[in-house]
Amino acid sequence: MQTQTAAAKLDAEYAQANPTSAALFERQAKVVPSGITHSTRAFSPFPLFIDRCVGARKWDVDRHEYIDYWLGHGTNLLGHAHPVVIAAVQEQLGRGFHAGGETEIGCAWAELVCQLVPSAERVRFTTSGGEATQLALRVARAATGRSKIVKFQHHYHGWHDAVGIGIAPPWEVPYSPGIPRATLGETIVIPCNDVARLREALEQDPDVAAVILEPGGGYSDTVPIDPTFLAQLPAATHEYGAVLIFDEVVTGFRYAAGGVQEYFGVLPDLTALGKVVGGGIPSGAIAGRSELMNAFQDVESSGSGRRPVPHHGTWNANPLAAAAGVATLTLVSTGEPAQVATARADALRSGLNELFSDISLPAAAYGRASIWKTMLGERPRILDGDFSNYVSDAEQLSKGWGEIDTPLRQAMLLNGVDPMRGAGFTSCVHEASDIDLTIEAFGLSIARLRDEGILVV
Ligand code: PMP
Repeated sequence: MQTQTAAAKLDAEYAQANPTSAALFERQAKVVPSGITHSTRAFSPFPLFIDRCVGARKWDVDRHEYIDYWLGHGTNLLGHAHPVVIAAVQEQLGRGFHAGGETEIGCAWAELVCQLVPSAERVRFTTSGGEATQLALRVARAATGRSKIVKFQHHYHGWHDAVGIGIAPPWEVPYSPGIPRATLGETIVIPCNDVARLREALEQDPDVAAVILEPGGGYSDTVPIDPTFLAQLPAATHEYGAVLIFDEVVTGFRYAAGGVQEYFGVLPDLTALGKVVGGGIPSGAIAGRSELMNAFQDVESSGSGRRPVPHHGTWNANPLAAAAGVATLTLVSTGEPAQVATARADALRSGLNELFSDISLPAAAYGRASIWKTMLGERPRILDGDFSNYVSDAEQLSKGWGEIDTPLRQAMLLNGVDPMRGAGFTSCVHEASDIDLTIEAFGLSIARLRDEGILVV
C-alpha cells in the first residue's frame, strides 16, 4: 500500500514537472494509437516530448536539460547534431534530396563501409536495420536454395515476420500477433552460447539457410555473448552449408570501427548494419563476401548460374543518408569515436558498481564497448565470464530492474539524466563530468526509491 502511494507521488511529481509533454501526449493520443510512435518509447504516465538534442544533451518541451543515453536508439555515436555531419547534410540538401539515380556520395559511402567492416567486400544500402536483416536472410536463402533460419533466444533483428519470435519468453509465442504461422514454421529458435545445441539443430534440419545473431549478445548485449562460442560459429555453420549472418545494427562501428567482427576477430559471411552507418539519417546496409553479395548481380556477371535477387526500395542509398554516413564514417575510421565512447562507458560501469557496493545494493553494471547495462539482483555468473548457468542467468539479465524500471527512470529524469531503463549508449562527446553527474543521479534516485519504500532491497 505504502509502495503504491509512493509510486503515485513520483508519478504526480513527474506529471507536475512536465505539463507541456502531458498536453502534447494527450493531443497526440487522439491521432496516434497509444500516443507513441515506437513501442520502446511507451512510458508511464506519459513520455517526454523532446524539443532538441545537441552533443550528449537533450531538452524537453518543458525546458528541462538531460544527459542523454538513448542517442537516437544508439545511432549517434558522435553525439547529437555533430557539426561535421550537419554541414555534410546541408551541403547535400542544396543539391537535392533524392537523385533518382546513382551518386558519387553513395559510392564513397559504400567504399567506406567496405574499408571499415572486415568481412565487407561488397555492400548494398537499405533504409533501416530491420530491412537489412530481412535482405540478408533473403540473400542467404537465395544462395543456398534452402528455406529455414536459426535464430537465438533474446536476439532481436527488427520487427519483420521471419524474426518475430524468440525475443522474450515464452519462446513459443510470437513477438506480435499477425505473423503467419507458416513464416514462424521456417524459424528455429535455440538458446545462444551453446555450440553443441546449434550443431544439433543444423544436423536435424538440412534445410537451414542461415544462422543469424547479435554477435555482441542478445537484445543489444543485454545477455553477453561467450567469445568462445562466437569463435566456433563460422566453422559450425559452414560445416552444415549454412550462411552466418552477424546483425551488427547496434554494434557496428561501436565495438570498434569495424564492429564486433573486428573486436573479436571473427568474420561472418554477411553483416546487417543500421544506426551509426547512416550518421543519424534513416538507413541500413547489408555487406559481405563478394561470392554471396553477387546474388544481386545478373546471371552472367555473377557466374553463379542463379537468378539474381532484385533489390528495390525508393530510399536505397539516398543522398542525405549517404552524406551523413560519409561524414560520420570518415570520423569513425580514425578509431577514436569508438575508443572515447568506450572509455566513458567503462568509467560509468566501474563508477556504478562502486556505488552499488557502497550503498549495499545487490545490482550490477555491465556491458561491452559503449553499450552499458544495469540490473537489480545478485550478480549472475555470466557477467564474470562463466556461461555454465547461461539460460537462467540470461533470464535474470533480461529482467533488468523489473518493476523498478519505470520509477527508476522517472527518478533519473527528475535528476536530469535520461537512461534507456537502466541502460544506454555513450557517445564520444559524453564528458567525464557527464559520467560523474550520471553516477550521482543514480545514487540520488536509488536513495529516493529506497526512502519511499519503492525499492526494498
Ligand atoms: N537489429 C538489432 C540488433 C537492433 O537493435 C535493431 C533496432 N534496435 C534492429 C535490428 C532493427 O533496426 P531498425 O529499427 O533500424 O529497423
